[in-house]
Amino acid sequence: SGVGSAPRGSCVKVVSDTCSYEPDHILSSYTYENARVETTDDGEFVVHPTKSAFTFKTSTEVPKTGLMIVGWGGNNGSTLTATIAANKNNVTWSTRRGLQKSNYYGSVTQSSTVKLGIDAKGRDVYAPFGRVLPMVHPNDLVLGGWDINDANIGDAMERSKVLDYDLQQKVKEELKAYKPLPSIYYPDFIAANQGERANNLKQGMDKWQHVLEIQKDIREFKEKNGLDKVFVMWSANTERYAEIIPGVNDTADNLLKSIKESHSEVAPSTVFAVACILMGVVFINGAPQNTFVPGALELAEREKVFIGGDDFKSGQTKIKSVLAQFLVDAGIKPLSIVSYNHLGNNDGYNLSAPQQFRSKEISKSSVVDDVIASNQILFNKEVGDKVDHCIVIKYVPAVGDNKVAMDEYHSELMMGGRNNIAIHTVCEDSILAAPLIIDLVVVAELFGRVQFKREGSDEWEGFHSVLSVLSYWLKAPIHRRGEEPINGLNKQRMALENLFRAFLGMGPNNEMRLESRMA
Ligand code: NAD
Repeated sequence: SGVGSAPRGSCVKVVSDTCSYEPDHILSSYTYENARVETTDDGEFVVHPTKSAFTFKTSTEVPKTGLMIVGWGGNNGSTLTATIAANKNNVTWSTRRGLQKSNYYGSVTQSSTVKLGIDAKGRDVYAPFGRVLPMVHPNDLVLGGWDINDANIGDAMERSKVLDYDLQQKVKEELKAYKPLPSIYYPDFIAANQGERANNLKQGMDKWQHVLEIQKDIREFKEKNGLDKVFVMWSANTERYAEIIPGVNDTADNLLKSIKESHSEVAPSTVFAVACILMGVVFINGAPQNTFVPGALELAEREKVFIGGDDFKSGQTKIKSVLAQFLVDAGIKPLSIVSYNHLGNNDGYNLSAPQQFRSKEISKSSVVDDVIASNQILFNKEVGDKVDHCIVIKYVPAVGDNKVAMDEYHSELMMGGRNNIAIHTVCEDSILAAPLIIDLVVVAELFGRVQFKREGSDEWEGFHSVLSVLSYWLKAPIHRRGEEPINGLNKQRMALENLFRAFLGMGPNNEMRLESRMA
């Protein structure tokens, strides 16, 4: 690690009686402080501060990790593969701006920092996010996956028209050796316009055989590459929503029965999720559809396997989850948020079909819900408790992967004043999404190595199977039944940062700065 006594792969060593370093794990003791609040009929709050003690145990043995991408030959999958290949080999290439070096900008774990504390002069000290604790490095990820199209990943990268030409030339040979495994294709779930891509399929099998084949693929990938752990990520086309039908997909047992009967309402993404869950492999859904039907959620809980989803939060929604929170926390009332997108990549082509657009619309819509619910001064029955939230997506081939997003935030100010904020963003869609895939895997892998013990208990437990800490990277975070998701980006990041600190026996980061505020 370079620091001598920090665990391998990390650069932070905490010296405290709340944190001890064992040969293969870190033990920390942590007091979690919260408050239980009762709201009285006359609108007052009775607050009971609470404290609970936990012991965390974080294994410091980083496993050899593989990532299998469903939709590997897509823009995200091929961009990610090219990026990792280039970083691994320290590739540099020529652009019109000069020589460019490989990097992982846009990845929280690889390119952002966490504040640890202050130095002797009172200045803040930050450490790289990905080295606060031992975590997988993307250069060490072994990639694989499936695609309904048989293009090798080198050709897929060229087809996607995302990366600089010179960079493509430098990684092409390596990528051409990567061939996606045949996948499963139920035409009813993605846009009809994708039909011409479907030439690499597991044919002549029923849905249960598909589950078994996917499991076999994962086992073979793991063995061939000598991996300790494999993660599976859905970065394939957006599917339509599956109808939730009692007796079909509402419980774990019904869902398993329906797959065995090849019920038409079980989507390919759900077949992949179930295959993974049943073999203890973490499955993360990067697209908006309801892969995790109630039966799949129940199955993950039952099998105690992490799941994450839905829909990568890359551009427009990420900004929204900051800006809507900013407005409401500033006491300004958003009245309408209107978001236009146009994009010209294959994702856009697929989303040009109404049912697939609808999946995206649902996932994009929920992002301000918790922000609205947090402020009953601005949002209540009397003054109105809704924001007009409108989402438009159009397919415009000319712009390719450079998705354009235009957002207007129309808000109410003091004394009936009005405020308009308009944002125009050009995202390089897949260059924004690929680093998110890295972060999702790196963080999911870390949380799989952390166990906790409650006060007075001798039992080590793992986190809940709905891995909600991944929500920073997801537009419509799946959540435990009966709970509401957290969408605000700053809250999501704070949770990550403070959980990392707890694993090291440190209290949550705060900006109280008493050292400098007191006379
Ligand atoms: P893409 O269309 O370029 O790639 C999708 C790939 O999935 C294609 O190669 C296709 O052949 C393959 N595919 C379709 N069905 C499959 C199946 N059943 N099994 C295996 N492969 C299958 O799309 P993309 O730009 O890479 O985006 C991937 C997904 O991520 C989309 O669903 C998109 O909505 C979602 N997403 C992307 C972003 C972003 O790029 N910024 C953000 C949020 C969500």
